[in-house]
Amino acid sequence: MSTCAIPEGSLFDMTVQMFNRAADCLHLDEGYRKIMTTCQRELVVNFPVVMDDGRIEVFTGYRVQHNTSRGPAKGGIRFHPHVSLDDVRALAMLMTFKCAVVKIPYGGAKGGVTCHPASLSRRELERLTRRYASEISILLGPEEDIPAPDVGTNARVMAWLMDTYSMHRGYTVPGVVTGKPLEVGGSAGREEATGRGVFVTILEACRVKGIDIKNARAAVQGTGNVGGTVARLLQQEGCRVVALSKSDGGVYNPHGLDVNDVLTYVQQNRTLQGYPQGEAISNCDLLELDCNILVPAAIENQLLAGNAPRIKAQIVAEGANGPTTPEADAILTDRGILVIPDILCNAGGVTVSYFEWVQSRDAYFWTEREVNARLKRIMTDSFQEVLHTAQKYNVSMRQAAYILAIERVRAAYELRGIYP
Ligand code: GLU
Repeated sequence: MSTCAIPEGSLFDMTVQMFNRAADCLHLDEGYRKIMTTCQRELVVNFPVVMDDGRIEVFTGYRVQHNTSRGPAKGGIRFHPHVSLDDVRALAMLMTFKCAVVKIPYGGAKGGVTCHPASLSRRELERLTRRYASEISILLGPEEDIPAPDVGTNARVMAWLMDTYSMHRGYTVPGVVTGKPLEVGGSAGREEATGRGVFVTILEACRVKGIDIKNARAAVQGTGNVGGTVARLLQQEGCRVVALSKSDGGVYNPHGLDVNDVLTYVQQNRTLQGYPQGEAISNCDLLELDCNILVPAAIENQLLAGNAPRIKAQIVAEGANGPTTPEADAILTDRGILVIPDILCNAGGVTVSYFEWVQSRDAYFWTEREVNARLKRIMTDSFQEVLHTAQKYNVSMRQAAYILAIERVRAAYELRGIYP
């Protein structure tokens, strides 16, 4: 997915800017600022993969642990052509604060491989995953660093990761990754957890804004695991989903789309081009549609200083990580738009990852109902906590979420002390 204009800086610089706004409110000590704006460990790996035609290709991958003061490092693995060390650092930092916002006992990490997964065969993808898993395994472990799916990876990739790690150990270690298939120790409800969490926060935000979801209109960028789930849940609740998109463009119907039909079309055609029940719309135009709820649920750098003045939605729910730049964030906030920040909005995924990890440790599994009920409680409570903090400090929801997270990370340092 391309960006709709030039972003204002690198993703890491922008994430640090968001952090600094909240740190200023807290008058955070310079030492803690240094700690929290630096990544603790960074691993870059260059590794060969034999392609199906016999050629050898060398890929570059990363695993970055931003901070482990609150627990083992946790975060997804991204397979995407634009993956860079800078992005992975930013995404790792977001994970530290995300886990702190929802109070789950993890630090933050992220990984990725610069590649085009759609152009790899299944066997090539498996070889790439296994070799990458092997290269970064020096950092991994159920008590050390626990990957999960992210853009371009899924449960099957997690199964290969878990298997590779387990083969090196000589026994099965289900707790080393989350987002696994159910058959090999995954959790009920994990697949749709991120989208479901986004949906819960949208319902809370509608209450704040006095929007009746049954009469609301939503535009969703993304038809993947997150966007697809949010769109389905919104429609089930009576909301009209007027637009949906994939990386190569979207579809718009002011009367509302049949979400399941759109998702089936995407599954069959891997594109939305040619979808008959609506008109084609670009990803940039989708963002500016007349709707109540806008859900950027694809990739970073979508809401920028250039298009923020034209956003018509009253609620922006950040299903993606980093979809809004700091300048755009300030514009949206000034315009009274309620932005549910990524580190709160999409925290449902890592929350159910945590449930999966707990279930793996106990070798005792919960029902989907139980998982969803616990997820809903955590997301609702976290939203309310962030909202109260926003009111207390008279700041945006993003700043409030960072304030809570920073205080929790700082508390961990104060209690543990700085070694030696
Ligand atoms: N990749 C997801 C995220 O950005 C999930 C991470 C996890 O479950 O560890 O939050």
